[in-house]
Amino acid sequence: MLTDMHIAVLGGDARQLEIIRKLTELDAKLYLIGFEQLAQSFTGAVKEKMKDVDFSILDAVILPVPGTNLEGEIETIFSSEKVVLTEQILNKTPSYCKIYSGISNSYLDQISNLSKRTLVQLFERDDVAIYNSIPTVEGTIMMAIQNTDITIHQSSIAVLGLGRVGMSVARTFALLGAKVKVGARKSAHLARITEMGMKPFHFNDLKNEVKDLDICINTVPNMILNAGVIANMPPNTLIIDLASKPGGTDFRYAEKRGIKALLAPGLPGIVAPKTAGQILANVLSQLLADDLEKRKENS
Ligand code: NAP
Repeated sequence: MLTDMHIAVLGGDARQLEIIRKLTELDAKLYLIGFEQLAQSFTGAVKEKMKDVDFSILDAVILPVPGTNLEGEIETIFSSEKVVLTEQILNKTPSYCKIYSGISNSYLDQISNLSKRTLVQLFERDDVAIYNSIPTVEGTIMMAIQNTDITIHQSSIAVLGLGRVGMSVARTFALLGAKVKVGARKSAHLARITEMGMKPFHFNDLKNEVKDLDICINTVPNMILNAGVIANMPPNTLIIDLASKPGGTDFRYAEKRGIKALLAPGLPGIVAPKTAGQILANVLSQLLADDLEKRKENS
């Protein structure tokens, strides 16, 4: 239980509602900032304006998945008001107050460092990334179906990268009957791809390996599908780039060549916001309970 915990939830999308539901069920006291247009109410949660919140009693601040932008603004679909997180606001919180976000950027890193508050990036955790790969794969299947006129079954697909997303994508497309090959740079990854029953190739051979593709799915967050590689693809290849913005594709060149290339960020929040929210809510509630336990032990 999270009884006696005071937590501010700042902005976000439908995923945040699952977090609010779970934390109120666990008896935490929540202050919802940037939610005034949300019709739904939750017992134990009050909608507040930033200026009215007493930050000195907070145990945690929960930001939406993208955190803030580079000016500190927080996106919220439930408010038309600007919600901005600053170093001054963090300075008002107790020193043990933790900031939870999906990802971070230079601004959020800087204000957390300057105020000496711990910033926890949930998407850096293996458990979150692996659970999250499930709705990501489902979204990728949806995009492949919507943007091709062939079945996935028997289509020729290359997956670039064997990380947490790449592994789930490669396995699922293979199970759907596609001919899947997977590119990587580590010999251990090449070995794992072989063990999984798929064809491995080293990124050094990428230019040759794309000559026969129907779909190329990238998970490498670095420019990998450059003009030289795209030039070797058949004109009807579909590129689905899952890597975080700006992706790993030369989109300008792909367009020039007439190859359809789609950057597809945030698929879990689009195709399964409830599940994506539950993934975050489950991990967050455990982390908050651990924080509370540790503080009780030390006091
Ligand atoms: P990950 O586990 O870190 O995997 C990244 C993969 O890219 C690894 O195989 C890594 O290989 C490879 N890689 C990284 N830099 C490379 C480089 N310079 N050259 C060659 N290979 C490189 O990450 P993940 O959790 O799978 O996520 C992959 C990307 O998808 C991230 O950008 C993430 O933000 C994004 N993502 C998108 C969605 C969506 O909805 N579109 C959802 C979840 C995640 P090594 O081990 O050799 O470095």
